[in-house]
Amino acid sequence: MNAVPPGGTIGILGGGQLGRMLALAAARLGLKTHIYSPETDAPAFQVSSARTCASFDDKSALEAFAAACDAVTFEFENVPTRTVDIISASRPVFPSAATLAITQDRLQEKGFVAKLDLGTAPFWNIESSYDARNAFANIGAPSVLKTRRMGYDGKGQMKISAAEDAVRGFKDFGSVPCILEGFVDFAFEASVVAARGIDGAFAAYDPPENVHRDHILRRSIVPSRLTEAQADEAKAIAKKIADALDYVGVLAVELFVTKDALLVNEIAPRVHNSGHWTIEACVVSQFEQHIRAVAGWPLGDPARHSDAVMDNLIGAEADDWRGLAAGGGGLHLYGKSESRPGRKMGHVTYLRPKSA
Ligand code: AMP
Repeated sequence: MNAVPPGGTIGILGGGQLGRMLALAAARLGLKTHIYSPETDAPAFQVSSARTCASFDDKSALEAFAAACDAVTFEFENVPTRTVDIISASRPVFPSAATLAITQDRLQEKGFVAKLDLGTAPFWNIESSYDARNAFANIGAPSVLKTRRMGYDGKGQMKISAAEDAVRGFKDFGSVPCILEGFVDFAFEASVVAARGIDGAFAAYDPPENVHRDHILRRSIVPSRLTEAQADEAKAIAKKIADALDYVGVLAVELFVTKDALLVNEIAPRVHNSGHWTIEACVVSQFEQHIRAVAGWPLGDPARHSDAVMDNLIGAEADDWRGLAAGGGGLHLYGKSESRPGRKMGHVTYLRPKSA
């Protein structure tokens, strides 16, 4: 693919805050964005050059959207693969449909990671009550039952301490395919946000330490408590995954840090909440990096010039925008029309001079 020059248009499937921050980064590079979202009040619509409000199975709307773009990407991983197939018929889509197929299914994703000889929690496939019992017999307590598809922010997840819980949980999830994972007694969680270009170039940001509350990311901190050797290992894990997927764009690899290993929890084939601090603390943010990769441009420098703490503003936490604006951090509000408990409304990043 030839690089998309300034003035060209990057199409983005999905119109949430990630799409919004991608559109803002694209604008800085002189690129236009066309947002495709079924939601009339999608936050990214407010900052894009063009918008299509249609469902992800509207073939003619998808074809018209593709025709109006030079390259297409997405801001959430649950884009139907058929949607990507329709667009791929006429325009390049990054990351690829093959990557999406792997990362949309926890069993495929964990199997893929294990094949690369990278560590994960032990896991077991469940497609029946018999499987649920069998999985628990193999994994033991405590374990975590997760739907294979469509889970995020702790949705479709349940802690399990007895075989009967596993069977009941599987049924409560509607008897859809699930996996049972061993519960990891981690010291803390971290992630690597990294980019791979069309030419195979690779650039990783310093891995942040992540704090979750109610399964939702609350805070990311850089530098993390990872040793230098662990941080290098984390970046190497992301590179191995990105190379194996022939990946183009930004990806995030979520990690459990135990006392003797880094275990891969999940791969997000997109820009990631734990990389928001890169807007203030790096020369080239994860959003610009993703746009560069998708447009076929050289990747930028991921080096960090400051220490950073990024706090998500969840639900009513964003209501005090005046106080937050006066608080000395970099404030981002996502332009969402309605605040709901658990909804990500914005974030704020605080910087300090670089310590390590
Ligand atoms: P996930 O949707 O898989 O990213 O899980 C959301 C959060 O739940 C993770 O960031 C962890 O805090 C927790 N969690 C998920 N799986 C496990 C596990 N196998 N062991 C311990 N904690 C987990």
